[in-house]
Amino acid sequence: MSQFLDISGLNARIDADGQEKEILRGVDLVIPPGEVHAIMGPNGSGKSTLSYVLAGREDYEVTSGSVSFQGKDLLEMEPEERAAAGLFLAFQSPVELPGVNNANFLRTAVNAVRRARGQEELDAVNFLKTVRAAAKELGMSPDMLKRNVNVGFSGGEKKRNEVLQMTLLQPSFAILDETDSGLDVDALRIVAEGVKRLRSPQFSALVITHHQRLLEYIVPDRIHVMAKGRIIHSGGPELAQQIDREGYTKFLAEAA
Ligand code: ADP
Ligand code: MG
Ligand code: MG
Repeated sequence: MSQFLDISGLNARIDADGQEKEILRGVDLVIPPGEVHAIMGPNGSGKSTLSYVLAGREDYEVTSGSVSFQGKDLLEMEPEERAAAGLFLAFQSPVELPGVNNANFLRTAVNAVRRARGQEELDAVNFLKTVRAAAKELGMSPDMLKRNVNVGFSGGEKKRNEVLQMTLLQPSFAILDETDSGLDVDALRIVAEGVKRLRSPQFSALVITHHQRLLEYIVPDRIHVMAKGRIIHSGGPELAQQIDREGYTKFLAEAA
């Protein structure tokens, strides 16, 4: 049986000012359906690059390897097709959109995905009902739906808004690439609860983080250590505490 997500021997590079730079160097990673996996690893190891390649960002060139997603060749799919197939990428730093109403923005995003999936679009009234209920569940004030997208939102509010978007899109696979900066304990908890709420046999996720704390809340099925463009070690949820205590040195030495 094919796995939900199967990344095999993935190599990718970026054209940085005319210089080809190899960033992913043989990533192997399998995520079964219904599982939440985490990737930890030193800065610059290629974690964000991996999430961008999976999302289909065009500045990255895959030079070898394969990615199968729900039995299909993910690398052959356009970014919109990936979204329609249920892939969701949470942005590392959410964009601010002055002049764009948050509820309208969310509706556009949701309807784009619904269209691509062949589902009926939600009209403004129906969408507002759905979004209000979802926002309430996340403890967001209804005000935040009327404001401009992320403009003047606190770090925690941006995270909530992002989790709201994820909840509305009902992805089958979410990639959350978190920055460390600006994430206080409350924001961590919001993200963790958003993931927990979506947990089901029909939902898998890849959570990229430096925060042992976040993984304590989420309790992933597996944790992978990424360094120098490869997964160099994998283990259970207890790996987070070990990394917190000992750092990456031991894994780096073993991989060398
Ligand atoms: P991580 O998310 O693990 O910190 P990244 O995937 O962001 O790592 O980066 C991996 C490596 O690729 C780093 O050395 C980084 O400088 C380089 N890199 C990533 N994106 C670019 C880019 N657009 N231009 C040049 N180098 C890049
Ligand atoms: Mg493989
Ligand atoms: Mg990163």
